[in-house]
Amino acid sequence: MSWWRRLRNGALRNGALRNGALRNGALRGREAGSDPLAEARERMVQRQIEARGLRDPELLRAFRAVPRELFVDSPHPYGDNALPIEAGQTISQPFVVAFMTDAAHPRRPDGWRGARVLDVGTGSGYQAAILAELGARVTSIERHAELSRSAAEALLRAGYPEVRLVVGDGTRGCADDAPYDAIIVGAASPSVPIPLLDQLAAEGGRLVIPVGAREQQRLTVVERHADEYAQRERDAVVFVPLVGEHGFQD
Ligand code: SAH
Repeated sequence: MSWWRRLRNGALRNGALRNGALRNGALRGREAGSDPLAEARERMVQRQIEARGLRDPELLRAFRAVPRELFVDSPHPYGDNALPIEAGQTISQPFVVAFMTDAAHPRRPDGWRGARVLDVGTGSGYQAAILAELGARVTSIERHAELSRSAAEALLRAGYPEVRLVVGDGTRGCADDAPYDAIIVGAASPSVPIPLLDQLAAEGGRLVIPVGAREQQRLTVVERHADEYAQRERDAVVFVPLVGEHGFQD
């Protein structure tokens, strides 16, 4: 069984928790010696990401830099599992975020640096933070306003104030900042939403999205070249539903 087949981000779907770590004023200490979670973060990068075959040094650097503890309310923010966030949603396990990010790597000379990226389903803001750390210009859209507010707070504390947060239906994409070199959808859709295909950059834009039934999906990677879209299906995954006009009905 591949690692990917074991990934499940939906197990905690109903366990909404307050993001107390932020409300209680947990601060990020990046200076040497003042970061009690540095060891756990490093272990996560080595054992969960690198050991499973993701080796892009930039990607690994980003996961070493973003303090996941600011985005979740858990005593084990670096565990090998999904975690509950507000509004009955979940933040994916670190490897899933890494795998999707890797699969979306823009096909342009500068890679992530300066790339325009749309993150659909802001959730906690962690995926958006990873993309910002990689140097992308990130627009992130979320249907739940309260999640977007908490994510804004977490992104500020973590040092990514430049991420543009939008509240709305991400199945329609976000035309304002299109076209996108990469689009990452962190929720499951019955089919690939057409507006997202339209908003992909014509030369090598990449979309990563779980597509399938509510119970299980296949991670799908679409790459655009002018009017041609090449689609590849990867392993089975379970995500919370993408609810909207071109996704699941509520
Ligand atoms: N990427 C997030 C986790 C995503 S969980 C993180 O790093 O934490 C999936 C998110 O998609 C949830 O927050 C859910 O509310 C949101 N969502 C579902 N349907 C949506 C839609 N149509 N538009 C925008 N966000 C949506």
